Order: sequence, then C-alpha cells, then structure tokens
Amino acid sequence: MPQVIPIIPGPQVVPSAVCFRCDVCCRFPEQDSILRPYFTENEIRQAVTHGISSSSFPDHLGSQIEVVPHPNEEGFLCPAFDPVTQHCRIYEMRPLDCQLYPFALMWNAQHERVVLGWDTLCPFLFEQAVEEVPLRGDSLEPSALTLPKAFMEQAQRVAIYLESDHALNALALHPRLVTPFQPEVVVLHTLDRLTAALRSSNVHDTR
Ligand code: SF4
Repeated sequence: MPQVIPIIPGPQVVPSAVCFRCDVCCRFPEQDSILRPYFTENEIRQAVTHGISSSSFPDHLGSQIEVVPHPNEEGFLCPAFDPVTQHCRIYEMRPLDCQLYPFALMWNAQHERVVLGWDTLCPFLFEQAVEEVPLRGDSLEPSALTLPKAFMEQAQRVAIYLESDHALNALALHPRLVTPFQPEVVVLHTLDRLTAALRSSNVHDTR
C-alpha cells in the first residue's frame, strides 16, 4: 500500500549507533506529552499491521500515539519502542514525525508561520552545534547556536521536500504534524508554501 507521506530524502543526520546509545528519543516524561509522535491514517494502518495495538491510536484517521508506562523506570515509552534492544519495532515504516527528528516542524512563536528547526534536546546535534556569536555569561541561548554545513544542507533538503506539492497536500490533510512552538527548537527555515496551504484551508489546528 503506498504511503501518504513517503520517506523523506537524504541521509539520516544522527548515526544509528549514536541513537542506540541515547536515552532521549521515544521516551516521554508525561503521558500526555505534546511530543508524542503523530501518525497519519496510513501510518496507523501500517503500524497496526506490524504489531502495534490499534488501541494505541485514539483516532484511526490520524492521532498521536498513546504512550505506555516504562517497565523499569519513571516516565513513558512509545509502544513501538523496545527498551531492551533500544530499537523501534516499526523503524522501516516509522511515521514522518519520527523520520523528521531531530528536525522539527512547528508554528513559530507568534503562531503566524510554519517553520523547520532543529531540536537542541537531541544530544548528538547539540554536541555538533557551534555558537554563532560567542556566549556572554553562562546562559546558553538556543538561538545562538548553528549547525555544521552538512546538517544545514540536509535541513535545506528536508525543507524543500516539505514544500513540494506532494508533501503539501499530505500535510494539509494532517495539520497536527505541525507542533506548537517549542522554545528548545532553533528555527532554520520558514516554510511559506506550507503556511499558505494551512492558512488557505483555515487550519490552525495544533496538538
Ligand atoms: S514510532 Fe519508533 S521512532 Fe517513533 S517514537 Fe515510536 S519507537 Fe520511536
């Protein structure tokens, strides 16, 4: 069955070996975290076909996944995450929301424009980041950080893809893929076509 939103182009920015040692992705401190991944109707169908319970999705036309208590620690896990192997059990068909990470699609702070940014909560990207302006004092402002050229080029490819006709049509059907503003995310690109597409369908829907 064709995907509504296919795999995004370009290399994965975080090496898999690094992801397997990390303990940030796929875990959530709160059961109702706004960062739980959103699945489209087709993505839900594929996840269920590959073993995820249909009860993990409150709306089968598109919804954020319901997380489950971590069996050994505090907090919650995506039910597709295996805490023993540290692997996603549906990695090959994980939703666009997960494919994008550590890039993030969100509304800007004024809720006027859709933007693409990178999440400073990703330890790997945070380590790679450099300060555009030397820091004054001890405070670390995410907006003062920039990424090496290869990451910026991948962000550009992702932004171009998200503004393609195919992606725009799919995203207009699933506006909740665009999260509310997250202060930890450093804005890289303003997505004018996507903003216009969502506004013309009068969509301001957020998670
Ligand atoms: S679907 Fe896979 S990649 Fe996405 S949050 Fe769940 S376990 Fe992680």
